[in-house]
Amino acid sequence: MTSHECDILCIGGGLGGLAAALRAADAGLEALIVEKSPLIGGVAAYSGGVVWVGNNHLQRQAGIDDSAHETSDYLRWVARDAGPFDADLLETFIRRAPEAVEHFARLGVAFASTGLGDQYHPDAPGSKASGRILEVTAARGTLGPWRNRFRSSPHFRLLGLTHDEVRRAGGDLVAGDVLADLHRQRREADLLTWGPGLSAGFAGAALVRRGVPILLKARCVELIHRAGRIGGAVVETAGTRIEVRARRGVLIATGSYGNAPWAAELEGLPEIFEASPPVLDGDAFALVEPTGAARARAGQAFTIFGYESPTERHPGTNIPLHRELSRALGLPHSIVVNSAGRRFGDESFYGFLLRAVKQRDEATGRFPNHPCYLIGDNRYRTRYRLGDGEEWPANLVQAPNLADLAAVLGIDAAGLIDQVAAFNDAAEEGNDPAFGRGTLPYSRRRAGDPNQSPNPNLGSLRAPPFWGLPLKLLGTGIYSTGLLINSDAQVLTEDRRPIDGLYATGNAAAYTEQPGYVGGLANARAITYAYLAAGHAASRASC
Ligand SMILES: Cc1cc2nc3c(=O)[nH]c(=O)nc-3n(C[C@H](O)[C@H](O)[C@H](O)COP(=O)(O)OP(=O)(O)OC[C@H]3O[C@@H](n4cnc5c(N)ncnc54)[C@H](O)[C@@H]3O)c2cc1C
Repeated sequence: MTSHECDILCIGGGLGGLAAALRAADAGLEALIVEKSPLIGGVAAYSGGVVWVGNNHLQRQAGIDDSAHETSDYLRWVARDAGPFDADLLETFIRRAPEAVEHFARLGVAFASTGLGDQYHPDAPGSKASGRILEVTAARGTLGPWRNRFRSSPHFRLLGLTHDEVRRAGGDLVAGDVLADLHRQRREADLLTWGPGLSAGFAGAALVRRGVPILLKARCVELIHRAGRIGGAVVETAGTRIEVRARRGVLIATGSYGNAPWAAELEGLPEIFEASPPVLDGDAFALVEPTGAARARAGQAFTIFGYESPTERHPGTNIPLHRELSRALGLPHSIVVNSAGRRFGDESFYGFLLRAVKQRDEATGRFPNHPCYLIGDNRYRTRYRLGDGEEWPANLVQAPNLADLAAVLGIDAAGLIDQVAAFNDAAEEGNDPAFGRGTLPYSRRRAGDPNQSPNPNLGSLRAPPFWGLPLKLLGTGIYSTGLLINSDAQVLTEDRRPIDGLYATGNAAAYTEQPGYVGGLANARAITYAYLAAGHAASRASC
């Protein structure tokens, strides 16, 4: 076995691992990143890349009023029905996240405001109409020699434009057309935005500007205990085992477990397919097993709807890609039904629909709204596209009438025909008495067709041929269970004692500070706990 030495070993070359290595290197420590896949960037490089930080320095610079107090009001409001939360860790996050973002901005990560507001809960106490949601862009050259080892995202057709530009152009339904020339120029210029921009911003600052070493195709398989603390790890790479001695600590930034065969059962879901790259095997749990580290459960999996692409693969693999569909479900001339042919929620707000799909009948143990199907008519097909992948996937079923469509999809035909008849007349008048589709401002703006009147989310299904697509539940790397950490991102035992030398960040760490969902929080906490872990490791004596 060969050996390496460093001050801090960051396990995982995603957002958390890159951010911790960057702060450590800036503090004069020797950092080493090990990444099990051949590519840098992690799930963050596939992501929308937004980072939610209340009371941040860019708000101050722009004269936007915000405070730790209002940020706390908002996050506590979001957490209120989602389960118990660790108030101390929440206050740490609120205080330290703005400091972390400002620090990384000084180290060269180009944070900017998206101009987006707290759109999920605009009326919640402490919410802000703009300023808290940040993004990062990375110009050509940022990644230097690492460019061809960087994970590219198959998601998001508008990559190359910033969130701010898409917002100003009127949203993602129209921005592709309005900004077509700019979009093409940006792709040619290799400007990285959204998730790729975020990961590249950190990778460029750490790997290129500070020369932090990273080993690719290097999987950490075991932690090493030395003199009563975690003092390193064993890494498998190219058929050999390397022992890495880490003088000040080891950071677990390995993400979560959506690709693990046990994920759906742990979450109490009928199924899970990942929208993330196929790297989320739950390695954090196996690594800490001998250390006595506690697992904590907080909140629940954040899933979205999608479908399995019949033709596309995760870049560089043969693994089928799952495409996200949330927006497409709220467009007119479509509905979502279960196998009885019945609707079960407001399709224009996927959160409501998901809640209904996840509901299990306690008596039978079955999920009455799973499987489920997106059904549409020909007007939908001629006016819209399904998502960011192939325009109309080959597994989309088409039929001249609803009865034939139901037969091919395995849906109850009488139920579907009844349901469409019950939906159509009111939909043409802009109403959905059953579920109020198209009544939320968020749904109308985000998932509606601005040219559809009187309701941007509603239109009847009368124009054959009809079509249908089985929907899948997709994970986004965010799950209910992770390692328990304290305010220094140290991993804790069941009795809340820190395990000396062991840290965790990102989705490997349980969401104990915030069990509710806030878009952009996953990336913000990956960055913040990485910052805290590296800061703590830098302040301790080396062994
Ligand atoms: C489509 C999509 C959109 C999203 N959009 C957003 C968004 O806009 N905002 C937001 O906040 N969140 C978003 N998320 C979620 C967010 O991106 C992730 O939660 C975040 O990137 C997690 O970062 P992380 O540091 O925990 O690890 P990850 O980025 O998941 O990286 C973990 C890395 O560790 C490596 N690894 C795992 N095990 C080992 C091992 N044993 N040895 C070595 N390496 C290992 C993996 O290969 C991977 O590269 C989105 C997710 C998806 C899928």
